[in-house]
Amino acid sequence: MIRLENIEKSFGKTQVLKGIFLEVQKGDIVSILGPSGSGKTTMLRCINFLDKATSGMVTIDQLSVDAKTATKKDILDLRKKTAMVFQNYNLFQHKTVLENIMEGPIIVQKREAKEVKAQALELLKKVGLSHKADAYPSALSGGQQQRVGIARALAMNPQVILFDEPTSALDPELVGEVLDVMRKIAREGITMIIVTHEMNFAREVSNQVVFMDGGIVVESGTPSEIFTKPKHERTRQFLQRLT
Ligand code: ATP
Repeated sequence: MIRLENIEKSFGKTQVLKGIFLEVQKGDIVSILGPSGSGKTTMLRCINFLDKATSGMVTIDQLSVDAKTATKKDILDLRKKTAMVFQNYNLFQHKTVLENIMEGPIIVQKREAKEVKAQALELLKKVGLSHKADAYPSALSGGQQQRVGIARALAMNPQVILFDEPTSALDPELVGEVLDVMRKIAREGITMIIVTHEMNFAREVSNQVVFMDGGIVVESGTPSEIFTKPKHERTRQFLQRLT
């Protein structure tokens, strides 16, 4: 279970998050929607303290961390429970695909190389890239790099994967292959929180949709609640603009 309580975040004098509350159950697939600048990415990055909230509490499983008093150990412990898939993949360019996937489990989690390699090869099969194990990221398409990004996140065996607009840097013809991989892992019961502009995907794959605007959660609910009978005018306007 993941809970955000009253998360606030300011950059300098600009308050970007104005008290976020969010609760996510194990196995939930949560899509975060909202206009540009509403704070979606910042909220996601506050979950694993890539951005440190100005105030508020983040809980993952039994671990609750207050942003104001968080120690380095708290932050590391929280990060161990999460993995992130970035918009621009963030792969190590000087490492092969296989090495990219193995890096975190070996260096951060201190797991044994042989076992990690076996898992990495399985994950490459899952994302359809077994034949690219020894390639370098520069030799891959954006869609392939993002599928490696997803395999790398899965290799950490996280409680939750945080996806930050995973398809928005891709050419349109490459979006489908990444969404297909995400659909596949969603069916396996891993908790996923996804900042996305892919409305059809959000509607079809998530069981919770969260609409943010102006640094708060305006409303959240099932896809049919949000897409067919949103309670708030702001949500209605946002969705109307897209159709
Ligand atoms: P988009 O859909 O365009 O990615 P978003 O809803 O994810 O938008 P954020 O990226 O969270 O929005 O940004 C919210 C606001 O915070 C924006 O006004 C942005 O300029 C500001 N912001 C984000 N990161 C920083 C930073 N590191 N320093 C200063 N301002 C920032």
